[in-house]
Amino acid sequence: MNTAGNPEKARRWLEEARSRTPHHSDGSILGSMTTAPHPIGVEAFKEFIHVNGNDPVIYPVVEEASRILIEGVGALLGAEHGIHTSGGTESNILALYIGRRISRGRENTVVAPSSVHRSIDKACLLMGCRLVKIPVDPLKPVDPGVLEEYVRKHKPFAVVVTAGTTEAGVVDPVKEAGEIAEEHGVFLHVDAAYGGLLIPFLHRRGYLAEDLRMYPGVSSISVDMHKNGCAPIPSSILFLSRRDYIEEACFEMEYMPRGRSCGLLGTRPGGAVIAAAAVFMTIGAKGYEENAVRMMENALYLHENLSHLPMITSYKPILPLNVFKSTIYTYEELFKALLDRKLYVYKSPSLQALRVVVMPHVEKAHLDRLINALKSIHGV
Ligand code: PLP
Repeated sequence: MNTAGNPEKARRWLEEARSRTPHHSDGSILGSMTTAPHPIGVEAFKEFIHVNGNDPVIYPVVEEASRILIEGVGALLGAEHGIHTSGGTESNILALYIGRRISRGRENTVVAPSSVHRSIDKACLLMGCRLVKIPVDPLKPVDPGVLEEYVRKHKPFAVVVTAGTTEAGVVDPVKEAGEIAEEHGVFLHVDAAYGGLLIPFLHRRGYLAEDLRMYPGVSSISVDMHKNGCAPIPSSILFLSRRDYIEEACFEMEYMPRGRSCGLLGTRPGGAVIAAAAVFMTIGAKGYEENAVRMMENALYLHENLSHLPMITSYKPILPLNVFKSTIYTYEELFKALLDRKLYVYKSPSLQALRVVVMPHVEKAHLDRLINALKSIHGV
């Protein structure tokens, strides 16, 4: 066996792989909560690709970037403290880990509506805690009265609600959940991985009644920068209501310059946090607000057009996320038919439907292509 390196072969493979890998700019990626990273993010990521985000002593720029993000995004949510993580899943696991560390005398249980993201199941599996799900209509937020009943009955150490659910964009009642958490002494984590950079703007612009803040009783909020923040993957922020909660997320690591490491990962892409900060600075709150409005208008455009198709049921979007189904094909069949046409949507299994997430890169022309494909599949 020839074990010599073969740079030519590697290049050929990369070139060939590039030619068959879809890109957001071609308009085919319509279901994923990812988007094309902003060019300054790509530049920063490349420039700082060698930086270990776990070593703020050699690389103080990592802490600077983290501060820029926490102050900037935190200002939108009334949050002051936080930690940069490598995505919504890490943020959710870390939030529950912190919640369990600070809980005293409560059951090893987490309560969450059934619409919660699967990473909460993952966190509970990893931590060996029981996850009690409140059955909810996937198109509706959890009822605060029912949430309180579950908290009374199960005495959880943590409650998780979602501000922008994965399958339907539903916004749970964060303020009311905060009141319940405060009254019962429970850690409340708000998963705003998807909605964190949409809800404050869409609320202000009159598209949405709910707002998102670090309300009294809220302990943590996660916001993904690699979703609507237009930052390169992987990038998320876990906001915490108290500075000392950050300590609970730190682990002894004697050989490191500071003797410890905060967050779940060890060596991690420092370029990602620097890139996210550069993107946030470049776009600014005003730019994110304009993005949110444009995305929402596009989602309403898609809904309007789908509603006119006789064999499609389309649900009115709450956030820029469209859910629709066919009256003649199962959602799995329709998924496959779109996949065959190189249109990549995702599924909303709880609604037996498909999901389009109108991310910053999605243009009306891309949506028109989808509408035309649906017409042709249904013979309209
Ligand atoms: N939370 C919500 C509400 C999500 O929609 C997602 C992903 O879509 C996540 C968490 C997990 O994020 P990530 O894929 O970045 O780990």
